[in-house]
Amino acid sequence: MYPPRFCLGRAARLWAVALVICGAGCASTQGSKDIERTGIMAWSPHLLFLNRAPHDSLYVEVDAVAGTEPSGEVLEALEKFLRQYCDKPRGIRVVRDDTIPRSVAVGYDNEALALQYLDGPVQASNGSPAFLYVLYYDSALEVDPSMPLRAAHPHVRLRAESRYVAPENPHVKLQPYPAAIYVDRRYLRLIPRSFETLTIRHEAAHVLGLTRNTARGAQYHCMGKSCLMAPSLDIGFFKFISGQNPFSQTNFCDACESDLAKGAVEQARNVRFVGPVLVRAEKEYHVASLPAEIKLGAGDASGFEMEKFLEQTRGDGKRMKGRFSPRHWADFSRDHSEAERQIKAIAHAQRDLLPMARYASTQFVARAKEALANASGQPKPPGAD
Ligand SMILES: [Zn+2]
Ligand SMILES: [Zn+2]
Repeated sequence: MYPPRFCLGRAARLWAVALVICGAGCASTQGSKDIERTGIMAWSPHLLFLNRAPHDSLYVEVDAVAGTEPSGEVLEALEKFLRQYCDKPRGIRVVRDDTIPRSVAVGYDNEALALQYLDGPVQASNGSPAFLYVLYYDSALEVDPSMPLRAAHPHVRLRAESRYVAPENPHVKLQPYPAAIYVDRRYLRLIPRSFETLTIRHEAAHVLGLTRNTARGAQYHCMGKSCLMAPSLDIGFFKFISGQNPFSQTNFCDACESDLAKGAVEQARNVRFVGPVLVRAEKEYHVASLPAEIKLGAGDASGFEMEKFLEQTRGDGKRMKGRFSPRHWADFSRDHSEAERQIKAIAHAQRDLLPMARYASTQFVARAKEALANASGQPKPPGAD
């Protein structure tokens, strides 16, 4: 008997590459080497949005904590932008979904909320859509004042005791789920109103793959100073005080436009959406991704159980109140020889494109082998549920 599933409790966000934009300057500190390190260029999930195959429609789910909701104008700008660049003959739908009560959101960070509330597209009989998730939240709710303070080093004790959380830039995370946009309403309150429609287009363009082309940009942003994908959007002071739109970087440069056009004619190779889950099939194994968490599986992805993974990650999102530490997942068979086959297949992920998958594979293989070795006794590998 083997435990049916393993999970790893690790701060996987250490590897997460965040793409952010702000009025004064971008907070991303990742260099161009990190683009290669994430393997995102070889993986190319952005083609699922730009190209009509294998998904000929796009479903955008918008969740928001109460009081942070995007305006209709912002969602219209998002839809218009997606229609302009995504080749989706069966249409693009931007749908407001959950309004998360503020009292329920207390204590959770954005990824923990995403895991709990992300539902995925409504099932359609004629083909499944590509999927984009948008979450509006309020970072001020992240700290639960009723929770006891954690012990902190004297150097950071004052900050910890103040329970202060800095507003977060709107951002997209390339790992492990480059199909979600996070917007902190508290951050937007500090910036002129017209920034919001620009930032939703900027973040959506990251999802569509812009600025991953190292020939055109650095630090995940465009080197063209007048481009909407520049690392910072300058606020024109005099325009601002005279009540005009203070932003001039409202469009993409020719190079960025050209990257978007190229993507529309290039087809994704080995990745697709199963519901909201991004599933990449490699020769011996597959990697399924949701915000902050991944699941490794043996063989091709034909047997991937989407609902089960959603259930597992939803439970994680709920559990992570106070401190979010994402886990990795893999299901192993209770049958000895089948488990051996799965371990062998998942071991191939030790050379995966994503550091997160490589780490998970190494850990799973070690633990599963230990469980097999103890199979005659009562296996209970460390970290297993
Ligand atoms: Zn950006
Ligand atoms: Zn550009």
